[in-house]
Amino acid sequence: MKKFRVINPDYEISYDKTIIDDLRFKNLDVVLSCFLCNPPKSKNEGLYYRIIKSKHGTCIQCIAFWHRQWFPYHIHDYHPFYIYLDDDKHVKFILIDDGHHYSKKIFIDKKKLGSSIRISFFLPDHGLTDRLNFGRVFKPNFIPLKPRQIINWWVINNMAQLKLRTKLVDPYKDGLIPENIPKQDSLIYRLNHISNFNLIARSENTLRYTFRDEVVCPVCNQLINSLDFIPVHKDQKSNHLYLKKEMKCKNGHQFIIKYNFQKAKIEYID
Ligand SMILES: [Zn+2]
Ligand SMILES: [Zn+2]
Repeated sequence: MKKFRVINPDYEISYDKTIIDDLRFKNLDVVLSCFLCNPPKSKNEGLYYRIIKSKHGTCIQCIAFWHRQWFPYHIHDYHPFYIYLDDDKHVKFILIDDGHHYSKKIFIDKKKLGSSIRISFFLPDHGLTDRLNFGRVFKPNFIPLKPRQIINWWVINNMAQLKLRTKLVDPYKDGLIPENIPKQDSLIYRLNHISNFNLIARSENTLRYTFRDEVVCPVCNQLINSLDFIPVHKDQKSNHLYLKKEMKCKNGHQFIIKYNFQKAKIEYID
């Protein structure tokens, strides 16, 4: 397991269900619902969670896991949301997977006690939104997100691989938490993320913030967003697994990247 960094070494992991408390916090109840899709209820499906303590406060990382997504069809579907608490266990803000693992920040009023928020998984892709007030409310199975589980998902050598890497290791990592509420805070904004064509002008969207890793082209510095599946390789000498992929930026520069599991870092290979 030492061959894999699953957490920033300055942080601490716990699975304390009294902190989770069915997502009922001092200042906020988080209600989950599903719209036009089913809750993750089959065997081993559910809400995988872990609680990370650091000097920044507490972050509850949740990944909703389904065995399959029907449209577009693929096996293993993971959609994250993270709940950030202050030292008194008040929710400060929530990050949701706003389609294609882009992150959307939802600010929470710390003083408004007894409020609730509904987070819906919707349509067959299971992306999240806080903009729907209908759908089927469900109580998830909370399953501890243990290091072994993360590693098993990371080393799947096909599209079912868990593509959340560095920002799972560090929920305070640059590029994850948007500073502001998105300007176009609407369902159209989210549909833009998941469609191949723009329903509204793309310039209105802040696509910079994502739960996935990004890589910068070493030639032109162009950012390549949301790194997808990366093939698994084994180092012959050390037997350590790593991920490696040839990349191409929009300007046509080709380069090779490696995801180093020990360092939880993307490296370039010459
Ligand atoms: Zn999905
Ligand atoms: Zn380039």
